[in-house]
Amino acid sequence: KQRVYKFGDKTADGNSTMKNLLGGKGANLAEMSAIGIPVPPGFTITTDVCTEYNLLGQEAVVAMIKEEVEQSIANIETLMGTTFGDKENPLLISVRSGARVSMPGMMDTVLNLGMNDEVVQGLAKKTNNDKFAWDSYRRFIQMYGGVVLGMKPASKEDIDPFEEIMENLKEKRGIELDTDFSLQDLQDLVFDFKGAVKKRTGFDFPTDPWDQLWGAIIAVFNSWNGDRAVYYRTMNGYPADWGTAVNVQAMVYGNMGDNSGTGVCFTRDAGTGENVFNGEYLINAQGEDVVAGVRTPQQITKLGSKRWAELAKIEEDDRRENYPSLEELMPTMFNELNGYQDILEKHYRDMQDMEFTIQDGKMWILQTRNGKRTGAAMVKIAMDLLKEGMINEKEALLLVEPNKLDELLHPVFDPIALKRANIIAQGLPASPGAATGKIVFFADEANKYKNSILVRIETSPEDLEGMNIAKGILTARGGMTSHAAVVARGMGKCCISGAGALKINYKKRTLTVDGHEYHEGDWISLNGSTGNIIEGKVATIEPELSGEFAEIMELSDKYAKMKVRTNADSPKDAKVARNFGAQGIGLTRTEHMFFELDRIKAMREMILADTVKGRKQALEDLLPMQRSDFEGIFEAMEGLAVTIRLLDPPLHEFVPHQLATQKDLAEEMHISLQAVKNKVAELEEFNPMLGHRGCRLGNTYPEITEMQTRAIIEAALNLKERGIICKPEIMVPLIGTVKEFEAQEQIIRSTANTIFKERNDSVEYLVGTMIEIPRAALMADKIAEKADFFSFGTNDLTQMTFGYSRDDAGKFLPIYIEKGILKVDPFEVLDQEGVGQLVKMGTERGRSTKPNLKVGICGEHGGEPSSVEFCYNTGMDYVSCSPYRVPIARLVSAQAAI
Ligand code: PEP
Ligand code: MG
Repeated sequence: KQRVYKFGDKTADGNSTMKNLLGGKGANLAEMSAIGIPVPPGFTITTDVCTEYNLLGQEAVVAMIKEEVEQSIANIETLMGTTFGDKENPLLISVRSGARVSMPGMMDTVLNLGMNDEVVQGLAKKTNNDKFAWDSYRRFIQMYGGVVLGMKPASKEDIDPFEEIMENLKEKRGIELDTDFSLQDLQDLVFDFKGAVKKRTGFDFPTDPWDQLWGAIIAVFNSWNGDRAVYYRTMNGYPADWGTAVNVQAMVYGNMGDNSGTGVCFTRDAGTGENVFNGEYLINAQGEDVVAGVRTPQQITKLGSKRWAELAKIEEDDRRENYPSLEELMPTMFNELNGYQDILEKHYRDMQDMEFTIQDGKMWILQTRNGKRTGAAMVKIAMDLLKEGMINEKEALLLVEPNKLDELLHPVFDPIALKRANIIAQGLPASPGAATGKIVFFADEANKYKNSILVRIETSPEDLEGMNIAKGILTARGGMTSHAAVVARGMGKCCISGAGALKINYKKRTLTVDGHEYHEGDWISLNGSTGNIIEGKVATIEPELSGEFAEIMELSDKYAKMKVRTNADSPKDAKVARNFGAQGIGLTRTEHMFFELDRIKAMREMILADTVKGRKQALEDLLPMQRSDFEGIFEAMEGLAVTIRLLDPPLHEFVPHQLATQKDLAEEMHISLQAVKNKVAELEEFNPMLGHRGCRLGNTYPEITEMQTRAIIEAALNLKERGIICKPEIMVPLIGTVKEFEAQEQIIRSTANTIFKERNDSVEYLVGTMIEIPRAALMADKIAEKADFFSFGTNDLTQMTFGYSRDDAGKFLPIYIEKGILKVDPFEVLDQEGVGQLVKMGTERGRSTKPNLKVGICGEHGGEPSSVEFCYNTGMDYVSCSPYRVPIARLVSAQAAI
């Protein structure tokens, strides 16, 4: 079995289809090398080896790959004309992680490996640049120390132990930048760094390059199980057994003087999707400098540079002189890079995110990958690539990640409120969106407030969890490709980076702008689309479905075979859902209407009534209210089917539990307080979810079903009179036996017939049922003989199949997921293996007696992508989900059918 794959000089053992084995980075390096892009030669140790390492340990794994690794190093030596560990002409290498999907900054990297006191001399002589050689050496000790030897800050307020040494030296020498260090300074730093390692770990810093290499390989494997990586994996649902590959490559140097540099670029704008080549670079720097946001980088293109200068309020002369673009500064290098970006985008047929290094006037491409992007950019790029003829319609649909559409459905700042906003500073629009929240300065305090904005000088991978919790991210340093910017775009989180006017003091927990001081807990707002930082809270408004978003949705409908309805309880929700393309209502929960102030009284009177007569009286009060609700919903959904479910929750939920409200009610009903109290006590249940609810209510109090049917049918007739077509579907909840359904159906049909006679008019309607009790799924063939349609209530079906109370599962589910007893929350993602069997069986058995039975789902799963796909595969006619999930379900419905 091959465990190590070589690449370089226009050849490669692997290719881009081997992402699972070589990791995303490794597969792309191989592919790039094979199509003639200049990548530094190297090799990839497979993800399988990571898994073997986790099972068998270090010794066994090193023995397994030793020979292959040695041969591969020899291959790099031949291609580069250098020798690993050589005093005269040394080869230095980088060692990087690379899982099958990109996990930015989550795992470890070591650069400049192979360095020691002798090699540094050789490098200095060879490059004729002592400072460069010693700077590389101190960087190596710093990275290797942090990654392999565990030299990390002791606490969150502490700084990196190596940074501390550098800061002290800078202070002593009265200098500001890393680049200001003299040769002697760098040599002192190397000495002091090694001393710090010895002091902290008790061991000398390893001098043998091979020891260094094996240490780094093992550290990369270990980083797969590091805290950051585990958190990122869990957040994204990536399994632990994927493992990471290790990429070893010849070092190329961007810090070899003013004819060298390094940068990151995107073939299109990752924030907006606009088709403009863009990116950032630094002259005389190494890759990490751009991403870490220590120096504010310059733009690749002239156009980008001008736009940037405009935001940063920099005059054109100043810009040209001090912040020139790569296009202006090194036109030949720019043209070469521009050629590669074009080749790579066309080759991969998707927006690419590339890293490059210029070493003494030679361009090297270090990596390419499909770029992370915001939801808006994702949709625009998919449609643009389609229009440019690079991909077809199906491919365009598959480029859209369903859950990411969510970002486009979130509120944006109200333009009117924005006009009055007090803009306190501006940064780079790193990731679009609108965010309002209270200032926090530390990632692990992001949950201190319900809405927080994480304000940092710069972010690091340790901050990931807090970035995810915060509503928005603001950094004082770093460019459009800084850690904060890249991660925020990946999360779809609003982010402003590089707002240089901010002075942040972590100790005092303050943010100062223009002499004005803001404290932790103060409100600020971020406009991630313009980079504006705004004082206080700013109002937001609902987004619209327009432009490329609307086009993608139209395209979805062209390929989708399964319909998408919505769960809506009010005309307002129904309208929102219809704007998002809902093709009907799959569930109206009628009980929600009873909770409104004037109605709850009538409802309580109904519940407290001791006699049928009393109950009927109260129901009569409720009738007109309910009828007008239905009219509103039918009108909003004109021409489309509307499923209305009869009363479902236990009555106990409606009665007053507080003494004051009980007293009010007693007075109003002219009964004693004690009578109210008795009734409340009487309705109390041990297991309300399994108690007197669902069709059990309608079967014990048929007057309720009668009233609701009357409200539905009369509403439909009233609209018919106004020329509005409506298609009511009356749904009976929580049946377990055929008789339960039959009894309700009988009441519904006879009530409807009575009304048709009264009005001398009629409407078409259906009577169907929810399938949400396991017994109903088992009896589906019998039930289908009577019911016009089925709608799977997977919330209750999950509850009853697992035996997990919907209302109490929050206490143990998170622990179950953490321990791996469950992979995901089954109330969120349909358990296809177990509950799914009941859904499948119910559908099949139902259609065995009624072949054209209409089947849908209205549990919360109806808007969750993997569950929607399952519903399609089960042969459902529709899914029904909350209004904001409708576009997601429409897309998945199309993707499933492709
Ligand atoms: C269900 O049980 O899945 C359902 C849709 O009904 P509810 O959530 O109202 O119980
Ligand atoms: Mg239910």
